[in-house]
Amino acid sequence: MNVKYYVGVDFGGTEIKIGVINNKGEILHKDKFVTDTTKSGDQIVEHIADSVEKVIEQSRVPTTEIKGIGIGSPGLLNPKTGQLKIVTNVPQLNDIYFAEGIGKRFHLPSFLDNDVNAMALGEFFYGAGQGYRDIIALTLGTGVGGGIILDSQLYRGATFTAGEIGHMSIDANGLYCPCGNYGCLERYIGRDGIVTRFKMFKSKGISTRIEEFAENGEITPKAIAMAAGAGDELSIEVLAETGKFLGIALASLTNILNPEVFIIGGGIANAGDLILEPARRELIKRAYTIPAKKVIVVPAKLKNDAGIVGSASVAVAKLSE
Ligand SMILES: [Zn+2]
Repeated sequence: MNVKYYVGVDFGGTEIKIGVINNKGEILHKDKFVTDTTKSGDQIVEHIADSVEKVIEQSRVPTTEIKGIGIGSPGLLNPKTGQLKIVTNVPQLNDIYFAEGIGKRFHLPSFLDNDVNAMALGEFFYGAGQGYRDIIALTLGTGVGGGIILDSQLYRGATFTAGEIGHMSIDANGLYCPCGNYGCLERYIGRDGIVTRFKMFKSKGISTRIEEFAENGEITPKAIAMAAGAGDELSIEVLAETGKFLGIALASLTNILNPEVFIIGGGIANAGDLILEPARRELIKRAYTIPAKKVIVVPAKLKNDAGIVGSASVAVAKLSE
């Protein structure tokens, strides 16, 4: 079998995860590095290239056998030119040609895309999306992101900003969102939305065992998920409501895009069916019958390595075009 290798660079505001994968999506070697935000943009790029060199060396894969480098990054960017546009937490990287800067040392084709699109591609090639052509991937974390793959191609839109599912309004008179809209999905099922709703119920005197699961007394989606898993009724209720809000958005997406599968990833998605089952019920209730019967809602398959495998998949996708 002709084995191909790719490098994945999962860039973030606090750390950078880098790995070498083969064309089965298996990681041969990986490591993580700190993003030193006190350095200039060019210095950060150099540091990443040094780190890529180290990881390739330690993987023992000859550079000549590596087909390309894929980079996933938060923020606004141009996937055609590999240029970062706005990286909120690391502004010195704004306008830097990131893909070229990292890849030129290795004389390898290098490609940049946003981290949620990378996650969607990773699931498409190697995870829960294998065998499907029409996929919508969502990541539930601090924010809510989306990656859309239609007819096996990533859909980016006219300004490369498609997939902002977190800013789909589910309530015309809902909570104000910093994006300028009201009632954005993210305000309800993003990290703060979940925690705020939990605290609101708790302040009404509804009993809960959350304290047993809250590290340092801090109520987090993870603590809520753990408490729910242990049978805490308030936690189960808050997750069910979270799933319901998610399902409202999935119903609209089902009607508009008619996907085969929704893949749900990110920290809170680890609560599994406590969120996904209410989401499925709401989807069935609200969407047209034929597309609603077709689509399935499943958890993401690539867990801790989703960032590296997803980023590498950006190169896999580009090189197989
Ligand atoms: Zn918004």
